[in-house]
Amino acid sequence: MALEHNIGIDLGGTKIECIVLENRKEIFRDRIFTESEKGSDHIINQIHKIYQKAVLFLGNKKHTLGICTPGSISPETDLLRNSNTTCLNGLPFKKILEDKLDHSLSIENDANCFALAEAVMGAGQDHEFVFGVIMGTGCGGGFVHNKELRVGPNLICGEWGHSILHTNGHVCYCQKHGCVETYISGGGLSKILKDQGIHLSLEEFFQKEDKSHLEKNIYQNFINDFAQAMGNIINSIDPDIIILGGGLSNITSLYTHGTHAINQYVFSESLKTPIVRNQLGDSAGVFGAALL
Ligand SMILES: [Zn+2]
Repeated sequence: MALEHNIGIDLGGTKIECIVLENRKEIFRDRIFTESEKGSDHIINQIHKIYQKAVLFLGNKKHTLGICTPGSISPETDLLRNSNTTCLNGLPFKKILEDKLDHSLSIENDANCFALAEAVMGAGQDHEFVFGVIMGTGCGGGFVHNKELRVGPNLICGEWGHSILHTNGHVCYCQKHGCVETYISGGGLSKILKDQGIHLSLEEFFQKEDKSHLEKNIYQNFINDFAQAMGNIINSIDPDIIILGGGLSNITSLYTHGTHAINQYVFSESLKTPIVRNQLGDSAGVFGAALL
């Protein structure tokens, strides 16, 4: 049987990671600094450099190529938007890369790559409908059915972070008020703490045993908002499993208090959906890219 090779490249703000899979097994991995302060041409050269290494390693064998990037390609203009590597926004990023690397490729955002990787190779591999949730700086997500990523006509499938949790709530960068992301992402919760005059890191906040009355309230609201947001997802698409990723997925009480609290928002007697931690950690982006 012929061997299948996939190259995946994960473009991050500080590093670019590249892997080669042979029949879904990792056979090569390397990383290089993004040096995004040097501008878009430099970043594209860095991607080219690491891709060349992978191709050389493969001895020019036939392969697929996928790129994981923050932001997304606009379906209207084909230009990259919403990337936090801001110098790339507004560029026809896919076309530039295809020309430079001289190979066709697929591009997806980091949340979709996370969901795909966890569904195929991680915590969701035994499940048909997988919802992958990222609770990091922002809240993103992706939906995978039968190991295939769902994107949808608006290319926003899984963007649960920008559905409204509290009408007239916090202002979000997307210009709406009360988005999920402004309450239960790392960035959102950090802002809530700061606005209340609490100068603790998120880790310190969650680990603190003798929380003040105010801190207890904030914690309880966080758990409740998480439960409500998860309940909304479950009531809408009822996935077989929800996998958490991003910095906040390390908060153990999400799997105890948080999961317990979801019960009250699910339109059923009791919650049957497993809510679990990811298995691939930081590697999910680059695996997901390779699997595109
Ligand atoms: Zn928003």
